[in-house]
Amino acid sequence: MQKINVEESMDSFYQKCADHNLKVTPQRVFIYQELLKATDHPSIDDVFNRVRNQLPNISFDTVYRTALSLADLGIIDIIESGGPKRFDANISLHHHFHCLKCQKIIDFDCEYYDQITVPKELQSRFKIFNQRVVLEGLCADCDKS
Ligand SMILES: [Zn+2]
Ligand SMILES: [Zn+2]
Repeated sequence: MQKINVEESMDSFYQKCADHNLKVTPQRVFIYQELLKATDHPSIDDVFNRVRNQLPNISFDTVYRTALSLADLGIIDIIESGGPKRFDANISLHHHFHCLKCQKIIDFDCEYYDQITVPKELQSRFKIFNQRVVLEGLCADCDKS
């Protein structure tokens, strides 16, 4: 998994916005920067609360629509968690551990999982863009308690 390089990510953000004629508004920049900083795969509620510290007048709806539009352009990923949508600004290949108790989603690298190939019958059934292994269970903190 590549570490997020904020400068490069911002460059590609500006580039993708330009490619899709999307205006670079301060809101978009703030929301994307907040996601780049986050390592916890925040939900929209989390992003909203963080962005609101700097842009007190921003609405929940704006944050929601902005995050979805960034995901549409492939600038960030929406990840499935079984609950509210969660977002990931790290779009490089990596895998997730999902704690079913505290709902933390933790990134991990695994060469073995990186190399799993999708079986032919699945490749003909679906158009596959990404593959990620999601492990579910209890994180170390939750397992202790
Ligand atoms: Zn946990
Ligand atoms: Zn992740």
